[in-house]
Amino acid sequence: MKTLIEPFKIKSVESIPITNAADREKFLINSFYNPFFLRSEHITIDMLTDSGTTAMSAKQWAGIIDGDEAYAGSRSYYKFEDAVRDITGFDHIIPTHQGRAAERILFSILGGEHKVIPNNTHFDTTRGNIEFTKATAIDLPTDIGIKPDVIADFKGNMDIDKLREAIERVGRKSIPLCMLTITNNSGGGQPVSMQNIRETKQLLNEYGIPLFLDSCRFAENAYFIKIREKGYENKSIKEICREMFSYADGTTMSAKKDGLSNTGGFIATNNERLAEKIKTILIITEGFITYGGLARRDLEALAQGFKEVVDENYLKYRIGQVQYLGDKLLAAGVPLLVPTGGHAIYLDAKRFAPHIRPEFFPGQSIANEVYKAGGIRSVEIGSVMFGRKDEFGRHIAPPMELVRFAVPRRVYTKSHIDYVAEAIIEVYESREKLRGMKIVWEAEFLRHFTAKFEYLQQK
Ligand SMILES: *Cc1c(COP(=O)(O)O)cnc(C)c1O
Repeated sequence: MKTLIEPFKIKSVESIPITNAADREKFLINSFYNPFFLRSEHITIDMLTDSGTTAMSAKQWAGIIDGDEAYAGSRSYYKFEDAVRDITGFDHIIPTHQGRAAERILFSILGGEHKVIPNNTHFDTTRGNIEFTKATAIDLPTDIGIKPDVIADFKGNMDIDKLREAIERVGRKSIPLCMLTITNNSGGGQPVSMQNIRETKQLLNEYGIPLFLDSCRFAENAYFIKIREKGYENKSIKEICREMFSYADGTTMSAKKDGLSNTGGFIATNNERLAEKIKTILIITEGFITYGGLARRDLEALAQGFKEVVDENYLKYRIGQVQYLGDKLLAAGVPLLVPTGGHAIYLDAKRFAPHIRPEFFPGQSIANEVYKAGGIRSVEIGSVMFGRKDEFGRHIAPPMELVRFAVPRRVYTKSHIDYVAEAIIEVYESREKLRGMKIVWEAEFLRHFTAKFEYLQQK
């Protein structure tokens, strides 16, 4: 059969708000044209993020009731630990309330002034947590990884030559660890090949630098390896995961993604001394080592989520649904980052709205307009999120200007996806009407979450 179906049936439903265009205009004004300020009761299809927005399975909800709320030594923690170890093989598994808590703890130990931490592409919170310790975060994607219109299998890869250059330039002693983000979220949800993980590790071994995976979407990455990388077509998803993690000295994970749950995260490592330091900070700031800031019932849901996420039928549907949306848009000529990645489609705002210069935030303008068209929320990943200013106050744009439509796991049906495609295509067809924007207020770190915008005056 060729028809892609959701490999589940629906047991419980939640109605979604249907709004009209005039109201949506007002909601945007009240939100300072920043979709992060929109209320969910005004959103029809929410594609802001795939993080923590998963629909849990009946078995996970059953686990929530069955959770063991003991402060220490909870049965639910041991189930969680077993499930994570089964996939990652790590010795020390330390729960945190979400991914950035894991990052904050790790970098408060290994970061600091004069330290440099490379990655294929840092996620915004990873970069934020590194820079908060006064360390430097550097991105080393491959050249094709930052070309949105070039099709390749593993555009999430680390550029090994650039990594070597960087290590030689700043010196091994300045690099406490190297990260590798699978899949590469800020780089378009693009996968990293097994070969690239292996080669990154080999290079780091020459210098004795540990490798940590930012493994939020490890299962989606493993699925891409299975369908695209030679030699893995007959391996199970779990075997592929095991091999990916075998090259790493540790990992941070936001389990709000491939944990198929609404909250959670962890740090895992084989380094006992590091694990002891992590646990000390965990107890001071997150909670005891067998819950790390989570309710134990959340650990129960995660334990079940990790079993479900490595199911190949689930992953086929998951990646297929994102591709279905991408294909519909491409067929209408909408410029996208290609190939479509694991968890989202990314509009290429530079080609979508070429009349708006990066410093006037073309992606933000598109995100606002798609909300106006259909009540659909997305997020800009470009100059708003990663733009900087030079010493003269001039705008330094990141390599790509994107608008991300993230697909929550197991939440929306095919007709919801059709609706999203229709709204985006409508905006694309009248794209010359899109106007540039400016920021009228911003925070010092991670400004995109709370920045306030206005449209530029028409000349
Ligand atoms: C979501 C995410 C994080 C941060 O996790 P939170 O749970 O949101 O704190 C870190 N890295 C990547 C690649 C992510 O996608």
